[in-house]
Amino acid sequence: MSNSPDLPRQCDHCKSADLYTTKVNSGGGYAPNYLPQLSTKWWATPSLDVVLCAQCGKTQMFAPKESLEKLSTSTKWRKL
Ligand SMILES: [Zn+2]
Repeated sequence: MSNSPDLPRQCDHCKSADLYTTKVNSGGGYAPNYLPQLSTKWWATPSLDVVLCAQCGKTQMFAPKESLEKLSTSTKWRKL
């Protein structure tokens, strides 16, 4: 699980620690693709770790670390 990002333990909106997490596919095909060009496996899109606050509903998504390494060379992503 070394590829998983460090997930928050506290909601940054309401400060609750009542957080839940799941893994979802980042999409492509018929679904929105949240991580274009950041797949490190040609047969699969990266999965996102979703963290949902059970108190206020704030939802956060975290990309896998191996996808972050591809950001600077991807033409789909513009640095802010
Ligand atoms: Zn919250």
